[in-house]
Order: sequence, then structure tokens, then C-alpha cells
Amino acid sequence: MVESSTVIGHQMALDRLSAAISKDQNSHAYLITGPDSVGKNCVANYIASALNCENTSQIPCGQCSQCNRISRGVHSDCETISVDVDGNLHGDGNKRTVITIDQVRKIIRESYLKPYEGKYRVYIIQQSERMSEEASNALLKTLEEPPEQVVIILISSVPEQILPTLVSRAQLISLKKVNWHELQKGLIQKFQLDNNVAEELSKTCDGKPGIAVKILNDEEYKKWRSDALDEVEFLAEASSYSRFIYGGSLSKRYLKDRDASIAVLTLWQEWWRDVLISSYGIDDSIINQSRIKKISYYANRYGSPNCARNVRMLTDTIEKLKKNFNPSLTFEQLMLSMPTLT
Ligand SMILES: [Zn+2]
Repeated sequence: MVESSTVIGHQMALDRLSAAISKDQNSHAYLITGPDSVGKNCVANYIASALNCENTSQIPCGQCSQCNRISRGVHSDCETISVDVDGNLHGDGNKRTVITIDQVRKIIRESYLKPYEGKYRVYIIQQSERMSEEASNALLKTLEEPPEQVVIILISSVPEQILPTLVSRAQLISLKKVNWHELQKGLIQKFQLDNNVAEELSKTCDGKPGIAVKILNDEEYKKWRSDALDEVEFLAEASSYSRFIYGGSLSKRYLKDRDASIAVLTLWQEWWRDVLISSYGIDDSIINQSRIKKISYYANRYGSPNCARNVRMLTDTIEKLKKNFNPSLTFEQLMLSMPTLT
């Protein structure tokens, strides 16, 4: 099993955090932003480990029992809060889409207790833009007078949707995509991969180490990725009418699980970007190397302007869905506006 909490890249941010925490100059709240799968959760775990590490010279050491328990997700003072925390579907058959006031009240209650086993209680709030207004306001009160041994880490890929007063209370850590050389080096170092395998994987991941870890660990993810690429190839060939029908099913899927749907659209966008690059004849920067034959086939048939248009349309669609536009209309518009071959 590959260790999924290992951070790849972001060295400057990590060095700065370690230096501040080792001088007890940590913040009571951090906001970690950046694209999906870039390593936001890993950096949050890094902070939790640095805060609780038993080592005095180099923190986090990654070896002591505190670091070890945090990386295995079993440390009793470190808790992750997310929208579907219990993994259940709710009354309407959908996943919970907001972080509720009750989830935040639990943090507030516990934060006045002493840590059980470490030096700090650390709460990591994933997709923190999904906190309800009530929940955000309750958390804000805690951050205005934070208890001594508590650190709250907000994670978000759309920080502009978080209550601004909450953002202003947190130290910002903005993560960018990791360049592929650094990613390759990280994969070799941490997972002992062969040079060539690490190179192909790092090019596939578009600067997002989380995708590399998923591909290494997760058969289900490989299948999901392969199905989503089959779908975009199917749509590239489909008539307007077939696409229109398809739009309806996409909208239903979105209502069931919006994160999974946005991940599929992001993969399609990446595939069309590959087709666009191929239309310019620069095949070695293509991410989906395993699909290169079809990519260059569609590059020839669609031509650069249409490929560029599809990338743009998908970018717009993702933006609209994140801003809660009507999904049914948004998918319909996407399916009808993308150029077809027939
Ligand atoms: Zn340690």
C-alpha cells in the first residue's frame, strides 16, 4: 500500500510551516487553497504532524508515534470534517451537500477540552466553502477568540465562496500545481518507482500528486478514469441528438454526486486539451498518452478552433456548476453548443 499522506512538491510552503511551528509561531487557523488533488489534505496532515511531533530538531519527523498515528488517521486529537462525514445518503437519496451547524458545534464543544494524546487538537475542514451560513458564523466566533491548543485548517478549491471574515482570520497557504519534473522526483523518492514509470505517471497527472497516488493505489479509480475517457470519446463521435439525450443523464448523475460529476468534466476538459495540443502537433505534452491514437484522430477531424472551443465550453460548464447554476440547463447547453462531426 502506498502511503497516501506523503506530500509531494510544495517544498517552500512546507519549509516555512516547519520553521514557524518549531518556533511556536503557528497560526490558530490556516486556509489551504489550490486545485483538486494538488495536495491540500496532505499539507493539512503535515501541519497536524508538525504541531504534535515529539522530535525537537526536525518537525514533522514522520517517525515518532504522533506523526505515525496522524498519518494513519487514528490520532484522537486530529479530526477531519467533511460534507459526507458519515458516508450515508440522506433523506432525499442524495449525499449531504453542506457542512452543518451541528458539525461545527461539535468542534467548538471539543475545542475547550485538553488534547488527549498530543500537544494540539487539529480540525481539518474539507470543502470548507460548503459550510452553511450558520456554521460559518459559529466558527467565526471561535476563531475570534481561539482556545490555546486548537488549530483549525480550512481546505477549499474555491475560497472565494467562504465567508470573507473567516478567510481574514486564517493564514493563507496557496498551493499551485507541481511541475512534472518535481512530481517525477517525488514519485521516485517516496514510492521507489522506476524512472520511466514515474515520468509517464507525472505527465498523466497534470501537476496533481493526488491523482498519481490514486492511480498507484486504486483499481476502482483506474476503472473510473477509463470509463470517463470512453465517454468523452463516445461524445466526440455522437450526433447532436444523442448528445442531447446524454445531457439529461449527466444532469441526473450530477444531482446524485456533484463532486464525481465535476471530476468527470475536468477529465473531459483535460482530454480536449490533449486533442487541442495534438492538433498543433505537440504530442509529447499530451497527458493521456494511453489514448494517443484517438486523440490525434480527433485532432485531425475537429481542427484546432473547435478543440479550443470545447476546452472553453467545459471550463465554463464547471464554473457554472460550482456557482450553482441550474444543472439541467447547463448540461443541455454544453451538449448542444459543442461542435459535432455530423
Ligand atoms: Zn514526529
